[in-house]
Amino acid sequence: MSPARPPSRDAALARPVPLTVLPTGATPRDPPGPRGMPSPQPPLAGRRGKPPRHLADLDLAGRRAAVAGLGEPSFRAVQLSRHFFGRYTEHPDDMTDLPLTSRAALAGALLPPLLTAERELSCDDGTTRKTLWRAFDGALVESVLMRYPDRVTMCVSSQAGCGMACPFCATGQAGLTRNLSTAEIVAQVVAGARLLAAGQVPGGPGRVSNVVFMGMGEPLANYASVLAAVRRLTDPVPEGMGISQRSVTVSTVGLVPAIARLAAERLSVTLAVSLHAPDDELRDTLVPVNQRWNVQQVLAAAWDYVAATGRRVSIEYALIRDINDQAWRADRLGSLLAGRLAHVNLIPLNPTPGSKWTASRPAAQREFVRRLEAHGVPVTVRDTRGREIDGACGQLAASASVGR
Ligand code: SAH
Repeated sequence: MSPARPPSRDAALARPVPLTVLPTGATPRDPPGPRGMPSPQPPLAGRRGKPPRHLADLDLAGRRAAVAGLGEPSFRAVQLSRHFFGRYTEHPDDMTDLPLTSRAALAGALLPPLLTAERELSCDDGTTRKTLWRAFDGALVESVLMRYPDRVTMCVSSQAGCGMACPFCATGQAGLTRNLSTAEIVAQVVAGARLLAAGQVPGGPGRVSNVVFMGMGEPLANYASVLAAVRRLTDPVPEGMGISQRSVTVSTVGLVPAIARLAAERLSVTLAVSLHAPDDELRDTLVPVNQRWNVQQVLAAAWDYVAATGRRVSIEYALIRDINDQAWRADRLGSLLAGRLAHVNLIPLNPTPGSKWTASRPAAQREFVRRLEAHGVPVTVRDTRGREIDGACGQLAASASVGR
């Protein structure tokens, strides 16, 4: 989910690790509702329509207009925004700078509960936590918090399910349920920030430093909501959460027009391209959208992104035993990437239930790395944190996690 970890951690993960199932609602504060009262029941599954409007869906001007529409002075939008983005609270009782008479109305109108924690799992002594969230309509999505000595990364979902149908990915098997709203994406990060600020993640109070759009969904297939979420995450408080753009990674199967659009936004976010094969014949099967935009077109879009942003592109490559891990494919990949501002992130395949595929043999993986390096291409092997809680790459499959 982020740059490689020392091999020792992978080795540690190979050992069985005791799982901790946390009580759900393990967040420090329930959503609005009189303090001490149970939070509202999750709405019925299958409810249709859009998620409720939330201040994180709006820019500050939109929030001002919404507050004015409630008959309140528009500066209250800034106060509410500070509570949500700066203090991670949605609870009217915490908003002592707002008149008592307005608090509940403002919070009720602009901070509706969006995601209810249905299940939480942790491993790595509590420093990796996966949350299964239920949305207003019963849609299920997952996010993963990973604390490292030097950073905290939130891996977030951008869609419930995914329509890209990559055969090795758990989410891809179930198809697309729906796009998440901007606020539903942001809420996953705010929930992590709240836990960290409250000191509820081992290692002491902390902050979310990195966000990767590598949970469920294809972020660039939900472009408008994802882009607004990137802005909310990276704009300074009170507009947003103040996370550095450079610490945000948007990962894509390679939707070429959307990559071009993202390049034109002139953001400093990192682009990750899920390549997984250097040749169209194989990539057509591993990443079916390759039949629409092929390897050459996807890489051309990536180099245009580099030219527009100056940011190094990350090439994601899940190593699948005897499928895409041959030495000649490493050489082919190396020659495609040589001299480019790119690095390869090799992901040992996390086999999904029922999959006939598995991770590469260690010797094949080492040789793959060696050949890429021989082409002068920087390469890292990704941490497989969260494997035991099905929180590792490609294992997020919400419906399968329920009731297990
Ligand atoms: N739709 C986006 C985000 C998906 S998840 C994308 O495709 O980039 C982030 C990464 O995990 C992608 O590179 C994806 O291909 C990879 N991945 C999916 N399933 C995997 C699995 N079972 N093992 C290893 N990596 C996997």
